[in-house]
Amino acid sequence: MLKHDVVIVGAGLAGLRACVELRKKGIDAIIVSKVYPTRSHSGAAQGGVNAAFDENDSWESHFFDTVKGSDYLGDQDAIEILTSEAPANILELQRMGVVFNRNDLGGIAQRPFGGQSFPRSCYYADAVGHMMLHGLFDNVLKYKTKILYEYFVTSLVVDNGKISGVVAYDIKTGKFEGIAAKAVLFATGGYGQVYSSNTNALINTGDGMAVSIKAGVPLMDMEFVQFHPTTLKSTGILVTEGARGEGAYLLNSLGVRFMSKYAPKAMELAPRDVVARAEQTEINEGRGVDGAILLDVRHLGKERIMERLPQIMQLSIDFEGVNPIYEPIPIRPGMHYSMGGIKTDYNGRTAIEGYYSAGESACVSVHGANRLGGNSLLDTVVFGRRAGIDITEYLKDAAFAKFDESLIKRDEEIFEKLKKSNGKERHGLLKAELQEEMRANVGVFREEKAMKKAVKKIEELKERAKNIGVDDKSKLFNTDIVEAFEFSNILLIAEVIANGAILRKESRGAHYRNDYPERDDENWLKHTLATLGDNGNIKFDFSEVSITKFKPQPRTY
Ligand SMILES: Cc1cc2nc3c(=O)[nH]c(=O)nc-3n(C[C@H](O)[C@H](O)[C@H](O)COP(=O)(O)OP(=O)(O)OC[C@H]3O[C@@H](n4cnc5c(N)ncnc54)[C@H](O)[C@@H]3O)c2cc1C
Repeated sequence: MLKHDVVIVGAGLAGLRACVELRKKGIDAIIVSKVYPTRSHSGAAQGGVNAAFDENDSWESHFFDTVKGSDYLGDQDAIEILTSEAPANILELQRMGVVFNRNDLGGIAQRPFGGQSFPRSCYYADAVGHMMLHGLFDNVLKYKTKILYEYFVTSLVVDNGKISGVVAYDIKTGKFEGIAAKAVLFATGGYGQVYSSNTNALINTGDGMAVSIKAGVPLMDMEFVQFHPTTLKSTGILVTEGARGEGAYLLNSLGVRFMSKYAPKAMELAPRDVVARAEQTEINEGRGVDGAILLDVRHLGKERIMERLPQIMQLSIDFEGVNPIYEPIPIRPGMHYSMGGIKTDYNGRTAIEGYYSAGESACVSVHGANRLGGNSLLDTVVFGRRAGIDITEYLKDAAFAKFDESLIKRDEEIFEKLKKSNGKERHGLLKAELQEEMRANVGVFREEKAMKKAVKKIEELKERAKNIGVDDKSKLFNTDIVEAFEFSNILLIAEVIANGAILRKESRGAHYRNDYPERDDENWLKHTLATLGDNGNIKFDFSEVSITKFKPQPRTY
C-alpha cells in the first residue's frame, strides 16, 4: 500500500494548480490520473479565461455579469472570490510561464465573450487550454512531483467521516492498489459522455462525482447541464465562443442574423443558454440548414482567421469539410459543461473531513444555472489554488485515518467479475443508447413526460448492465474493463441529472422546461443536493443560495 500526505486525483488545470501550491511548500503531494497529465481535457479549451484588467473594466462588473449569467443561482460570496481574485491568478500563471496573446501596449490581449459586458477573456489564439495545461505541468515537474498516470481511481476510503485515501486500479499492470492519505483532492473533471453530441473527451465520464455520491458526498445542482451553441454539426467538436468574440455571425436558412429576435442587444454574444435555445428554436421551426445553423466568419478576413482562430479553421476543414475563410460553418448546440458537481465550499472542502474537490468536478457554486464562457478555466485556477492553500493548513493538525483494506479487495472483485462475465450486453452499445436518450429527452428543451421516459430507460439500462460481458480477458492495459466501469459511472450520473431535472419545476439558466417556462424564485431559488438512499435510489435535499449584493432581477440581454 502507498502512503502520502496528499493525493490529488486529476491532472487537468484544477489538479495541477493545487499541486503547484502544495509542492512549492515541499508538501508530500502526489498526482493520480487515468491519462498522462497533458492528455487531460483542459488541454482542449480554446477561447479564453476571464479577468478584469482594463482600467475601464472592474472585477465588480465581472462579478455582476457572472451572477446574472448564473440566473441568480450562483452563490454570490463564491462569485465575489472568483472575480476579485481573477487578475492576480492570471498574472501568477504568467509568472509561471503561461503565454497569452498581447495587445498593442504589450499587455495581455482580451476578447469579448458571451454574457460579459466588457472584453475580458485572456487568450492564446484559440488554444488557451493547451498553453495553460503545459505551463502548469512544467511547474509540477519542476517540483519533482510523483505522478501515477494511467491509474484509475475507483473508490474513496472513509473512516468515521474522515478521509483515509483512495483505491486505484493500475491500468498498465491490472493491479489494484490502496493509497492512504491525510487529504484527498478530486479534480476529476466533467461528465460530457452522458450525452451524445458532446464537446468532451471520451475520458470525461464523471468518475469523481459518481465515486463521491457513492461515498455519501452530496452532488449539487446536477440538473444544470450546459449546451454550447457552436459545435460542429457532424461530430460535436467545439467551435469556440471566441469566434463570436472575434465577430462571427449566426445565420438561419434565410440568411438572417436571428439573434436580433432573441437577444437584441447582446446578439451572438448573449450567454450560452440563450443562444443555444435560440438556435434550437430556429431549427425546430424549420429555419435550420439540414438540422444545423450557420456560423459565418468570412467577413473577418483570411488574415485574422488564421491569426486568431487557426485551430477552428483546421477543425472545420478536417471534420466538416468546410473552409471557414470561404464558407459558413454548420453548427448546432451540443453538451459542453457540467455546472453541477461535488458540493464544496470556496476552499474546496466537502462533507467529508480532509476530502476536497476543485474544477469542473466541483460545484462551489460559481456558475449557478448557466456558466459564462471563460469562467471555467478561471474556476480551475482560483479554486485549485485555494484548495491547495486550505489543504496546507489542514495538514498542520491532520493524521492518517484508518484505511479499510477490504475495499481494495471489493473493487478488485468487481473488476474480476466483469472480466469473467460472458454476458451478452456490451458497454459501448449501452452507452450509445443512454447518450441518445439523454440528448433527446433531457436536453436543451425539457418536459416531464420525456424526462420520465428517460428515467425509465435508465432503469432498463441498469438492469441490462448487470449482463455486460467484456471481450478482453487480459490483465495488462485492459481498457475494456475500465470502460465498462466508466459506463456504470455515467449511468449513475445520468440518473441524478434526469431526476433532478424532473424535480426542478421551473426554467432557470440552462434548465428550460416547456411545461414550466418561467423562473420561479419563490419556490426554486435554491440548490438541489443529491445523495443515495439505502435502497440506492436518488434522494434530494435543498440548500440556500448565498445572495450578498444582487437581488434577483429579470434576465434580459
Ligand atoms: C472543447 C472545450 C473547450 C473549452 N474551452 C474553454 C474556454 O475557452 N474557457 C473556459 O473557461 N472553459 C473552457 N472549457 C471548459 C474547461 O476547459 C474545463 O471545464 C476545465 O478545463 C476542466 O478542468 P479540470 O481540471 O476540472 O478537469 P480536466 O481537465 O477534465 O481533468 C480531469 C482529470 O481527472 C482525471 N480523472 C478523471 N477521472 C479519473 C479517475 N477515475 N481516476 C483517475 N483520474 C481521473 C483525468 O485523467 C484528468 O487528468 C472548454 C471545455 C471543452 C470541452
